[in-house]
This record gives sequence, C-alpha cells and structure tokens, in this order.
Amino acid sequence: MFKITALPTDEVRAFQAGAPDAYGHAPERAVSTGTGNPCRHCLQHIPEGAEMLILAHRPFAETHPYAETGPIFLCASPCERYEGTDLPEVLTSSPDYLIKGYGRDDRIVYGTGVVTPTGRISAAVDAILARPEVVYIHVRSARNNCYQARIDRVTA
Ligand SMILES: [Zn+2]
Repeated sequence: MFKITALPTDEVRAFQAGAPDAYGHAPERAVSTGTGNPCRHCLQHIPEGAEMLILAHRPFAETHPYAETGPIFLCASPCERYEGTDLPEVLTSSPDYLIKGYGRDDRIVYGTGVVTPTGRISAAVDAILARPEVVYIHVRSARNNCYQARIDRVTA
C-alpha cells in the first residue's frame, strides 16, 4: 500500500505569498496553458488561463549531491492539497513517468530508477517499496525530469 505525498501546504502557501524559491528568487508568475502545467500541491493541471507560479524547488530537506533542484509549477491562488492513495490527475496524464526509490540517507537506491508506462506505475511502485532499503519514491516527468510528487508507504 502506498500514498501520494504532495508538497506540504505550509511550504506552498509561503510560495503563493511570494516566499523565495530554492535559488532565493521570488516565484515567477505566468498564465497556465492547461495540460502540461501540473500543480505539485493539488496534483491537478492548473486550469488554462489561471495564474500559476514557476519556481525552483528542491524536494529534499538538506543539500547534498543527490538533492536535485528543478522547476515546478504551483497554482498561484491557494488550492487544496491532494491526499490519497489513487494516482492523481498529474500522475496519469502522461504516457510514462520516471520513478526512483530513495533510502534513509535521501540518496537514490541504485537499480530502482525506471521510466514506467502510466498503467504500470502502481505495480512498479509496489515492487520498489518491497525493497527494505527504500524509504520513499520520487515521481518525475519522463521527458523533462521535473519533480512531480513523492510516494510513501502506508503502514497499517
Ligand atoms: Zn494547485
């Protein structure tokens, strides 16, 4: 069993209020073109014509060689954080995604990274999480390598 972990609401609200991104810049503002502009908080595509934020995000608490930083989009206005175990819209609208497992030290567990067709993501996630050294999974765009969401184990 796994759950989808979107960006924490307090971090997102700060960006929506203009807090600096991973590189110290205020988030850029742009207008969404719809599909292709996934919000990493509600995990929906930002509606076409709606204002959005573009910013550099590092989905790790600390900096280290594996702590990749890259571009993400967020709704410019407060949206509701996705909570759930089903794959949300932004993780089912592309033909495939790059998924990879990370260990307790926040470093890639080599051998887990794989570009996975969307219909096989749930099975691939279960297989990666079956490895005891994997603590969580990151889902990225298979084409642009942009961070999409984290996946965590659900423990009963
Ligand atoms: Zn949103």
